[in-house]
Amino acid sequence: MKYGIIVCPGCGKAKGVGTEKKTTTCPCGREIKLARIKYQYETDSPHELAEAVAQANALIAGGEKLQKEKRSRKKDPYTMISEKAKRVKDPLERMGLVASELTKMKDEFTEDDLRRVVMLLGKSSAKDILARLQEHNIVYESSDGKYRAV
Ligand SMILES: [Zn+2]
Repeated sequence: MKYGIIVCPGCGKAKGVGTEKKTTTCPCGREIKLARIKYQYETDSPHELAEAVAQANALIAGGEKLQKEKRSRKKDPYTMISEKAKRVKDPLERMGLVASELTKMKDEFTEDDLRRVVMLLGKSSAKDILARLQEHNIVYESSDGKYRAV
């Protein structure tokens, strides 16, 4: 095989090289010794090589993106509340917990706040839940459109 693909240990990018070479220098400046490196892909066709390098780099870039998204996906308070609430089996008790957590977080919460948690819990209507919570005196309307857990 005349050509191979390596992944640069410096910048992590895929690079096509001639396998007869002893060393190569990556665009990032890193000199790579080819003697002991394992080729990710080998081919005799320069055209195939170029395609494979592009593919490998797309995969690598995709992986980086995924990792970055994962890292930046910090749990927002609504998710945290919904996760806490998931452990409570009784539906009313569960919504009571959500209401009191929202109250702790925001002092007063709106139907919209409730909806954000309710959506994560897979229940449909925040309005109904709010009505039930008020019915059971778990939540009261503290000011116009704002609610607090008792
Ligand atoms: Zn490099």
